[in-house]
Amino acid sequence: DQGLQKTKEGFLSKLSKAIAGKSTVDATVLDELEEALIGADVGVDTTLQIIERIEERVKKDKYINTTELNHLLKDEIQNVLKVGDETEKHFEILNNKKPFVILVVGVNGVGKTTTIGKLAHNYKKAGYSVLLGAADTFRAAAVDQLTIWSERVGVPIVKQAMGSDPSAVAFDTVKSAVAKNIDVVIIDTAGRLHNKAHLMEELSKIKRVIQKVIPDAPHEVMLVLDGSTGQNALEQAKQFTAATDVSAITVTKLDGTAKGGVVLAIANQFKIPVKFIGVGEKIDDLLVFDKKEFVDSLFS
Ligand code: GDP
Repeated sequence: DQGLQKTKEGFLSKLSKAIAGKSTVDATVLDELEEALIGADVGVDTTLQIIERIEERVKKDKYINTTELNHLLKDEIQNVLKVGDETEKHFEILNNKKPFVILVVGVNGVGKTTTIGKLAHNYKKAGYSVLLGAADTFRAAAVDQLTIWSERVGVPIVKQAMGSDPSAVAFDTVKSAVAKNIDVVIIDTAGRLHNKAHLMEELSKIKRVIQKVIPDAPHEVMLVLDGSTGQNALEQAKQFTAATDVSAITVTKLDGTAKGGVVLAIANQFKIPVKFIGVGEKIDDLLVFDKKEFVDSLFS
């Protein structure tokens, strides 16, 4: 069920309390619905949009009952998630770019390294050759952790001494990938958020040097957000999307939290597809985000 047990339990119990025994949808039901959505960390803006649309539909059809409300709600949530295009169902590189270059961004501690390890594992399992680039050169631990993941997964890694220029590591990585005919390149970046200008500068420098080797790369800029931080994740999304062109999002740590509704807020506010979700610390705990399954699991 996409690892959303806690979110589901919280949301469902509030939802069923809100609509239990009601034969029509009145203001009280809508209030409680609002509370249930906000309680699951769907966020105020997104919640109000959903409630507004339900109000509209209830106005049109005065005799709506709770079963119908359930369907309505599911519908509206699905609408909110209808962002971006349909993303892939599997770990698959769809556009024949070789190497396919993924730049991974996000603040420290959100699960960036772990996500890179899991991604590498899944792409390898799907039959692709993978090369990692340790361009977070500011933390020795980051390079060490990524090295451990490269060994665990069994994929090579390009790294340099701590403190070296991140863009030099990125450059080496893509050069090596081209020389070795690698399918997928995944580059880690530093997650420092000193200020927007600094972040912007650093990421655009990395992009520029990558483009010296592969003009249309990176093909994906993946932002990693920690779902258990709820609204903080939204704040980070704001900062990163302002600093660079984020093309996809991974939301981690959805296994231990009741705040999984934040996925809805992210999808609604940023119009960037949530492609993967992290549901644990192990190598297999990364799932392709399935909108339909996500919504279904909230209601069943
Ligand atoms: P980074 O600093 O962003 O690279 O973060 P790490 O990848 O080192 O992860 C930070 C911590 O979060 C580690 O203890 C990971 O095991 C843990 N973690 C990462 N992803 C998940 C997830 O999806 N679920 C859970 N429960 N823990 C996770």
